[in-house]
Amino acid sequence: MQNWEALKQTCHSCTRCGLCETRHNVVFGIGNEEADILFVGEGPGEQEDLQGEPFVGPAGKLLDDMLSIIDLDRKCNCYIANIVKCRPPRNRDPLETEQDACIGYLRNQVALIRPKIIVCLGRIAAKRLIDPDYRITRQHGQWVERNGIWITAIYHPSALLRDVSKRPETFEDLLSLREKMQEIGAKV
Ligand code: SF4
Repeated sequence: MQNWEALKQTCHSCTRCGLCETRHNVVFGIGNEEADILFVGEGPGEQEDLQGEPFVGPAGKLLDDMLSIIDLDRKCNCYIANIVKCRPPRNRDPLETEQDACIGYLRNQVALIRPKIIVCLGRIAAKRLIDPDYRITRQHGQWVERNGIWITAIYHPSALLRDVSKRPETFEDLLSLREKMQEIGAKV
């Protein structure tokens, strides 16, 4: 396991998969490195690639609004990362091979942060971190415990921008997240 500085350096110069050829920036992650809550998306989009920060632009604004409902803020009490750190061209899903190449960085981030809760943002992260057969439409909001970490998934903010009818369910999932945070004494 690498410490934060070494990990960031390794990641920022990474050429382990083909996504390095088209990226503008490696999007390592952002937030409190000692937070109890970790959010994981699938990978950077166009704005994230240009700015080097996860979840910026309209989807990021919506995520920030969602977090504020349950008193979370990327600047102080949670951490946000992705399964792959470089943008897949034209925002396609990251390939299995790209996820395999990159997942070690996320594992190292989890080992350093030691979160009590991981929230997958969308289908790709849920399939990778919870179950390869995960069905986000049916299983979002459900909780599993793995190695002492509580894990759930909610819809990706981009999906909520495309389909506002999913927002009430996500609001319920956020309330469930807040309940879990209180239940296990996660610091906010
Ligand atoms: S996506 Fe991950 S594995 Fe691929 S080049 Fe970027 S940092 Fe390296």
